[in-house]
Amino acid sequence: MAIPRLDHFIDGALVAPNGGEYMDVENPATGEVIAEVACGTEYDLNLAVAAAQRALDNPDWRDMTPTDRSVVLNQFVDVIQQNAQELAYLEAISSGGTLSRISKLDFLLIIDSIMTMADLVKTYPFTQSLPARAVPELTDVKVVKEPIGVCGLIPAWNLPMVLFMNKLLPALAAGNTVVVKPSELTPHTSVRLAQLLAPLLPPGVLNVVNGVGGVVGEAMTLHPGISKISFTGSTAVGKRILVNAAASLKRVTLELGGKGAAIVTADADLNAVAHGALYGVLLHSGQGCESGTRLLVHESIYEPLLEKLAHIAGGLQIGDPMNPDTQIGPMCHAAHGQKVLGYIHSALEQGARLVCGGERVRVLGCEGGFFIAPTILADCNNQMSAVREEIFGPVLAVIKYRDEAEAIAIANDSDYGLSAGIWTGDVLAAQKIARRLQAGSVWINDWHMLRTDVPFGGYKQSGQGREMGIAGLESYLETKAITTAFQRDPAKKTLTYGIVHTFD
Ligand code: NAD
Repeated sequence: MAIPRLDHFIDGALVAPNGGEYMDVENPATGEVIAEVACGTEYDLNLAVAAAQRALDNPDWRDMTPTDRSVVLNQFVDVIQQNAQELAYLEAISSGGTLSRISKLDFLLIIDSIMTMADLVKTYPFTQSLPARAVPELTDVKVVKEPIGVCGLIPAWNLPMVLFMNKLLPALAAGNTVVVKPSELTPHTSVRLAQLLAPLLPPGVLNVVNGVGGVVGEAMTLHPGISKISFTGSTAVGKRILVNAAASLKRVTLELGGKGAAIVTADADLNAVAHGALYGVLLHSGQGCESGTRLLVHESIYEPLLEKLAHIAGGLQIGDPMNPDTQIGPMCHAAHGQKVLGYIHSALEQGARLVCGGERVRVLGCEGGFFIAPTILADCNNQMSAVREEIFGPVLAVIKYRDEAEAIAIANDSDYGLSAGIWTGDVLAAQKIARRLQAGSVWINDWHMLRTDVPFGGYKQSGQGREMGIAGLESYLETKAITTAFQRDPAKKTLTYGIVHTFD
């Protein structure tokens, strides 16, 4: 069977790469080549930016009211629901996410995001009149919120469909036009979503240029026609983007890495913690930025909790993501799997205790995939590289603490600040601890509590700016003040004109 080709999507049509080059896309579960994706160049990017700029100037889009944009967004719901089966399949074979997670959680989030943004855009005050003030003279002021322009959207590979929509929805709701560069590892659903959603928009509003980050992504961050970059990915690339964007002072939103710490207090329900903390670290085999990867446990419950964690983790089903019963899928590729194992080995060399997992698992029928057993490392400390750095795998580092102050200090002793949490029997006391944790999201007695109307983003080196909800919409808007003067007689403008003119 011929291997499908994934081209760019520019100005309402599929477009082959100008250089004629393609690269392989592999199924993480099997290692099989499932597509060839276009290797974009600056030439291709220029085509897409020009199309996006034309769309920005097209009255059909430029003058569309927020209410009409809301209607368009709501139409996305039907299109996605009608194509959910195909999209879920493409997402699973390209990202290695389990079909079970994609069809349950990802679609729930995507549909809810659309409805949240469609509602928000109807009520958001795009124009506000300020009360009149007579200083220095009576004027009328309107503060208007306008689209920034052509936005460059660069998502990561781990949750391609969710990240694509998280960026696209507020960008369009605000009236911008976009060029998306999907991860070269997982381009399937971005190309397909563009094909499905673009017919609901004027041509050129939604464009996709495929290619490697160092070429197309880099060119986007330097492109004079792109006014905003929204990036999700590693902290290292995020820093580079900020430097590149500085040359033209592009607006930048960065959603970067994390090293989420959860504090388990002595009065926590151990059964709830064990299930919840494993959900926190094992969703998508730990390949989530906001995963709970450090578990800080009070000394009085340390061993009993470890026992529960090991018991549950040992019984999870590792396997083919296409099997609806699979709970733990593969690493995104073999090199990443080796890196994860490297972190586990380094922690063990530095004194951590292996409670369970710690090794590669062979899955029948998926011999080309790289699977790692859920791994719990006890007796960790914050000096270990496996505890300081983002592993992006199914690895939980457990650290013992004596008192609250020590737990908060350990949690905050990190370059990252994306997620944090508290497992506790005392939710009132937890509110106080939450205020002291340096993280953009703090979850009490659960994990991954993402709500589409709630701002999401990082403190410290986990990012800059927020996505989702009002904060997400506002990150795609510029603010303009339009002021009108009413005094037509120059001689009466004594406080202003009187400084430079003399009137008889
Ligand atoms: P990555 O930084 O390697 O790549 C992310 C995207 O940037 C890809 O599309 C890539 O092609 C592109 N890119 C690479 N070099 C570039 C450059 N020089 N200029 C512009 N673009 C470039 O990250 P990844 O491996 O795809 O994703 C994993 C990382 O993403 C992890 O660190 C994870 O924590 C983070 N992440 C963060 C969030 C969040 O919301 N904070 C969500 C998901 C993933």
